[in-house]
Amino acid sequence: MTTPIEVRPAPDAGHRHKPAPALSALDDDALAELVGALGEPPWRARQLRQAAWQPYVASLDDIRQLPTPLREGLMARLRFITATVASERLADRGTTIKLLCALGDSQTVETVAMESPARGTSSRRATVCVSTQVGCAIGCPFCATGRMGLRRSCTPAEVIDQVRLGGQALHRHGLGPVTHVVYMGMGEPLAAYETTVASLRALAGHGGISPRRMTVSTSGVVPGIRRLGAEGLPVTLAISLHAATDELRDRLVPVNRAHPLDALIAAAGAYGRATGRRLSLEWCLIGGVNDGLDQATGLVRIARRLRAHVNVIPMNRIEGSPWGPPPADVSRAFLRHLSQAGLTVTVRDTRGGEADAACGQLRASLEPRRQLRPDGTLGPQRSGRPRS
Ligand code: SAH
Ligand code: SF4
Repeated sequence: MTTPIEVRPAPDAGHRHKPAPALSALDDDALAELVGALGEPPWRARQLRQAAWQPYVASLDDIRQLPTPLREGLMARLRFITATVASERLADRGTTIKLLCALGDSQTVETVAMESPARGTSSRRATVCVSTQVGCAIGCPFCATGRMGLRRSCTPAEVIDQVRLGGQALHRHGLGPVTHVVYMGMGEPLAAYETTVASLRALAGHGGISPRRMTVSTSGVVPGIRRLGAEGLPVTLAISLHAATDELRDRLVPVNRAHPLDALIAAAGAYGRATGRRLSLEWCLIGGVNDGLDQATGLVRIARRLRAHVNVIPMNRIEGSPWGPPPADVSRAFLRHLSQAGLTVTVRDTRGGEADAACGQLRASLEPRRQLRPDGTLGPQRSGRPRS
């Protein structure tokens, strides 16, 4: 017989293991309460919040206008930021900054910040592309993140703090401030639904970024699309379509097996009607896989029905996959088919990018786009997405 050993938690164990709240996740009332508990009036909370969003403020120490005892009190009771930059890489002549962000448990996610100059009628913009999950469970075979599987979802603060870090990185390079946010990094935003909606609300609130300047990209999590449409948050929705038949889409975007095309198209249409936002359809063009004219015809039918804009992304090669972009003449024929049908199409130009394509989809989401001419050739470069 064995004697059971009683394991008692240390008296303060619960307290010690509960992390301090993250500044980015606290709403204004909660922040005022915390500051009040340290004997300071509510306007100090507003001062702290404003300062925390300044791109030149990296820590509480940088907020000199706060009294020292308050700063010290906050250091013990608040996590000022939930991620740090583990590495930074520049591309596109210094206008694209790719960050690897380390989270508290030493998981990492990728974040990209990119500045695009004013061109034509569109003004200068600085976009941060955020990750919502470490890895992804959807498992699209052409996607580097899908190959990782899902480790965990990010917290809302971790998503918001990627925008803060993106803003700081832009500032270090004389760029910014952030005008747009796209949820096109690692992970499926609508599989991390609470994180996505809470972070969108905070970014639209204390982050000061209009929902119209934010885009959520989804592989087609239909219940999430329906819920998002009822949130009163008019963000742009980008649907990663990639195939126009269930047979092919079941293989390319496995979530299609649970939520097939008819359901996806109905939910996307309802989203567009509820929010008044134009939809985007993303099409990663893969040589010999979804580049035929039968697929192009199907895409035309769906885009017309949804009155959607179409973004074609020639596939970025990923390690371990034999797939890649189609030869130029095949791409041209596919694109010509779309433009002859009268669709609004843009093509993400990946040719000018850096050689290292480890972060395929992040890079693709931010690279300059080119307008498609009616003959299927590409026009001059335009600024990156999204539109507002
Ligand atoms: N999970 C979401 C958002 C992140 S992926 C989604 O799938 O929509 C952002 C975009 O990059 C998606 O349209 C995705 O299909 C695309 N993408 C992923 N891997 C790619 C690759 N190797 N080449 C080109 N686009 C890719
Ligand atoms: Fe996940 Fe999007 Fe990659 Fe598919 S494309 S595996 S949904 S991150």
